[in-house]
Amino acid sequence: MAVQAIVWGENVHDRENELVRSIYPDGMHGCIAEALNESPDISATTATLEQDEHGLPADRLARTDVLLWWGHKAHGDVDDGIVERVVERVWEGMGLLVLHSGHFSKVFKRLMGSSCALTWREAGERERLWAINPAHPIAAGVGPYFELEQSEMYGEPFGVPEPLETVFVSWYEGGEVFRSGLTFQRGGGRIFYFSPGHEVYPVYHDATVRTILRNAVMWAAKPGIRWENVADAPNRPVGEALEPLEEKGPRLHEDGEAGYR
Ligand code: ZN
Repeated sequence: MAVQAIVWGENVHDRENELVRSIYPDGMHGCIAEALNESPDISATTATLEQDEHGLPADRLARTDVLLWWGHKAHGDVDDGIVERVVERVWEGMGLLVLHSGHFSKVFKRLMGSSCALTWREAGERERLWAINPAHPIAAGVGPYFELEQSEMYGEPFGVPEPLETVFVSWYEGGEVFRSGLTFQRGGGRIFYFSPGHEVYPVYHDATVRTILRNAVMWAAKPGIRWENVADAPNRPVGEALEPLEEKGPRLHEDGEAGYR
């Protein structure tokens, strides 16, 4: 069975900005889903902010192997309950791809636990992305580097924890550098942050970017594997210890009590 992916799009610029609409007539999420569906191994659908539960009801997320997240203008409008729902699915093992301005999304900041801040400039300048981890599955088919003729500069320092792996490093025409493709693990879930994707440039039409997104979905997917009850913290009483155990010290809690949260 194909990997089940949802491309979540904020869908605000896509509707309100004429330039963005002209580049992405089906929305950025529509373009990204189309790129993913070019692979027979991926079945991608979309969800958007304005839908009921932002298009992410619990039963739909439960069937999802990888969620992609593009947001910008309306990060603050994302319901905190939905954020927690997504975070818990990542802990259970759902893959997450955070794209471009999604670095400031509630979901990413919650999972990183840090500022996720960066420097930036909108000048339509060239970006050269180096695959500094060329044997990584996400970089398959990319070559030593590729270029985007027009990109928004995202520069260091990038306020994320030290990543699991750095797959891409970018250089910009203006001179800055950026860790543009990073992997993380949170609980059972694999996370990939990929920085290209400014809405006024046709980044998601680029063939190499589309290859990377497909690679990343396959890398992040763990179909059929789930960390059950990932947020439970059960008390294991002395009498249920695997080996005979004599209680030797004083205690605060009764057997089987729910701990404090
Ligand atoms: Zn942008």
